[in-house]
Amino acid sequence: MSQSLATVAYLGAAILFILSLGGLSNPETSRRGNLFGMVGMALAVLAAVFGPRVSSGGIAWIVVALVIGGGIGLYAAKVVKMTQMPELVALMHSLVGLAACLVGFASYVDTSIQYQGAEKVIHEVEIYVGILIGAVTFSGSLVAFGKLNGKIGGKPLLLPGRHWLNLAALLIVVWFGRQFIHADTVGVGMLSLLVMTVIALLFGVHMVMAIGGADMPVVVSMLNSYSGWAAAATGFMLSNDLLIVTGALVGSSGAILSYIMCQAMNRNFISVIAGGFGSGAPAKKSGDAAAAEPQGEVTPITAADTAELLRDAKSVVIVPGYGMAVAQAQHTVNEITRTLRAKGVNVRFAIHPVAGRMPGHMNVLLAEAKVPYDIVMEMDEINEDFPDTDVAMVIGANDIVNPAAQDDPTSPIAGMPVLEVWKARHSVVMKRSMASGYAGVDNPLFYKENNRMLFGDAKKMLDEVLAALKA
Ligand code: NDP
Repeated sequence: MSQSLATVAYLGAAILFILSLGGLSNPETSRRGNLFGMVGMALAVLAAVFGPRVSSGGIAWIVVALVIGGGIGLYAAKVVKMTQMPELVALMHSLVGLAACLVGFASYVDTSIQYQGAEKVIHEVEIYVGILIGAVTFSGSLVAFGKLNGKIGGKPLLLPGRHWLNLAALLIVVWFGRQFIHADTVGVGMLSLLVMTVIALLFGVHMVMAIGGADMPVVVSMLNSYSGWAAAATGFMLSNDLLIVTGALVGSSGAILSYIMCQAMNRNFISVIAGGFGSGAPAKKSGDAAAAEPQGEVTPITAADTAELLRDAKSVVIVPGYGMAVAQAQHTVNEITRTLRAKGVNVRFAIHPVAGRMPGHMNVLLAEAKVPYDIVMEMDEINEDFPDTDVAMVIGANDIVNPAAQDDPTSPIAGMPVLEVWKARHSVVMKRSMASGYAGVDNPLFYKENNRMLFGDAKKMLDEVLAALKA
């Protein structure tokens, strides 16, 4: 493939990536957005592999690597459960970081191109910054992976004088950066690079360890942003324009998403990064009887009585959460919605921006079950309607409907906007036990007079509700 053809292919891929991001911003266009992304990536890979910079002898190696990497990716995508997606994404981000580090070291020892003067300094700055971002992304993402799958506790690790430690690390990194650029030999430069890499790896661990469970949604999207910048840095090192553009797209869209999520959680981005929030109890295992000490009496309800409540209602708001994803109850939820709507009940869905375990988690599940988009409302669109709602049905959600966020300033989730389901005439919370949610805090909603608890697996209970509705 000639250079000009490769450039045209890169341009086409960059346009497809922009169209892809545009499409992904709306559930109705997201399938098309995904398709654009896939075609763009295929084009980019083909143009890179068959482009002028790969010798014919190198193609065989790349194809072997593609088959191995693609096979692992395909297997992971097939076996991963929807609820494990954020962990997988965190792991993928770590690989981008690792790639940036490896490319950085390889670029430094590669003597095939001799840079001189200002060009040499620019190239070395690219390498230094690329490895720095890559190493932070790599170790930070691995810790995020551990936190998301529960192997590392959700409680923030707050070392004494941690801000000073971070500042000292920054100063050391800057000093070694100066040494690196002035290094006479590759050996001396390599030493600076290695010291900086170790510090960056430790910083990545420290940064994410200091962030509490309640802030993990922001961290996931922040690491997404970092992985984009790491890719852009790799693009600079390899003089690959498409990698720079794509990295910048991922980096900036991740940063915008982090900002939107901070707003949705009433959090300040800087204080999220500084850490310490969500320092309540560590995230606890669902189903653990001791996970949430009950702070009052709850009133259980049966599936038949829940169906009765729904049948008598004029207006119903369904609030799905992580438990709906675990139980894979979305199809039954859709069946119940259709049954109720056929009876003239006004059914709508209330989606909290951090419901589930990844941005847009609930939207994806509801779209998969073919719930009509026009009855799926964002939190801001529907929160005011709860006082006029007969039944708010909470399906496997907990933190996002916790009134303590508003009433208890000492709560680890204080200030986070929540769906005000307790203002409905009746609320029914569907979950298996009294266990707490991701943030590991008790939920006073359960003890409210107008609330009922429907204990059991969401799918099983909803099947029973549906059967009773149809009877
Ligand atoms: P929560 O984690 O607060 O609560 C989920 C509830 O679902 C649990 O209390 C659990 O209770 C119940 N549950 C689990 N399995 C089942 C099942 N099979 N059937 C019925 N219920 C079940 O989820 P929310 O969606 O309310 O809130 C999301 C939380 O996750 C927030 O704290 C958010 O900050 C955090 N988070 C969000 C991310 C995002 O990007 N959206 C990323 C990372 C974290 P029980 O065990 O008793 O059944």
